[in-house]
Amino acid sequence: MVAVSKTVNARQVAQAASAGIRDFGENRSGTLHEKQALFPEYRWHFIGRIQTNKLKDYVGKVALIHSVASYRALEAIDRRAHSIGCVQELLIEVNVLAEASKDGVAPEQLADLLSAARALKSVCVRGLMTMAPLGSPAAARHSFAGLRRLRDDLAADFADANNVRLTELSMGMSDDMEIAVEEGATIVRVGRRLWT
Ligand SMILES: *Cc1c(COP(=O)(O)O)cnc(C)c1O
Repeated sequence: MVAVSKTVNARQVAQAASAGIRDFGENRSGTLHEKQALFPEYRWHFIGRIQTNKLKDYVGKVALIHSVASYRALEAIDRRAHSIGCVQELLIEVNVLAEASKDGVAPEQLADLLSAARALKSVCVRGLMTMAPLGSPAAARHSFAGLRRLRDDLAADFADANNVRLTELSMGMSDDMEIAVEEGATIVRVGRRLWT
């Protein structure tokens, strides 16, 4: 579980850590940078939209970037990681149900993006991430099952790529984490439900 700490302060992060949580997620580079500086001993995850001018705040510093939604972002992360001599682990965000309001790669573009990732030396794709539609458990299940199917279909094609290893499925938030786990989530990102 990644505890999404974007709405809470440092004291609440410390409380969660004292209850045993070690993975925290933030969706803005500035607050991530501040909280990670206060708690460098925990694993930090970037879960927000990628802005290529903010990469230095977290590339090479976070355990996992969950929200890579374009080749442009992937390539920029690779370049930044190369320049500081690290390999950044990340997930590709997929817009499984093709919702107009959402970031994420279209399912039919995923194979091409992963093929392109193969040629990059300073990133390692560890799996896929999605955000389900809010308010409909049936639609959430459909999107989680779709993400898992995409992963299952593509994993074999990339079995020989050592920097594309599709083991992780980051899916499920406060309202739909049980459904996500039933559909095969390996990582859930939970915010509100932890802090209230
Ligand atoms: C805020 C956020 C979450 C957590 O959402 P909750 O509904 O508060 O659990 C998970 N993932 C992403 C990408 C987020 O921005």
